[in-house]
Amino acid sequence: VSNAHHSSESNEHFSPSKVVEPGRILLRGFDLDPASCEVANTRLIRAPHYFDRAMDGFNRPWFGKVWLNPPGGICDNLGRLVLAERKTGKKKRPSCKVSGACGLPPGHEHKQQTSAAKAWWFKLLHEYMSGRVLSAVYLGFNLELQQTTQQRCFNSNGYPSVLHFPTCYPDTRLRFFCPTPEGDIEEGTQPTHANIIVYLPPQWSVLESQRFKALYEEIGHCVWPSDVVRRVQAAA
Ligand SMILES: [Zn+2]
Repeated sequence: VSNAHHSSESNEHFSPSKVVEPGRILLRGFDLDPASCEVANTRLIRAPHYFDRAMDGFNRPWFGKVWLNPPGGICDNLGRLVLAERKTGKKKRPSCKVSGACGLPPGHEHKQQTSAAKAWWFKLLHEYMSGRVLSAVYLGFNLELQQTTQQRCFNSNGYPSVLHFPTCYPDTRLRFFCPTPEGDIEEGTQPTHANIIVYLPPQWSVLESQRFKALYEEIGHCVWPSDVVRRVQAAA
């Protein structure tokens, strides 16, 4: 298995079962897997509803109990992935106008490019704060989220960073699954990043704190923040 499958530039890193199964118990089942594909949902998440890239989950309303393994790489303000080579020695943000790697026809533009993991975090927050999403687990591919979700971006809306939510810090790098050429999945080797698992609870109760820690403490250290994130019902 190539390490390239596990780079944050790739969309193809499927959630490892060892972190999905505690989440399934924690949320009492999943309703929606909004950044997925048929093989990942069928084999690993098994939510009754999923959105793949063609279904454009970034621009749809979400609902219920959500497992979110966001895409990596850079996306624009429409959630379109901008895959591009990294040029060492250049500070410039990757742009498909140079590489043409995003697959859109010549002449298009990408506005407000940011990390897809960050943009999808704020999309999840938007659905959670509105009450459409009841509870969720967000699987963060690397620890950059702790820094970058403190910064504003096109869809941040003043929503809180991952630091305000219950988090598990796995004590080893997670082995994400990869698709095989035969349409199967296999566990990856040589994981490249330390990861985080963030819980958006249905209630900020002692019971939820105990359930979270009981289910995820075998994966790694769990932190339940003292501040409570108060949901406000969105106007629309
Ligand atoms: Zn493009």
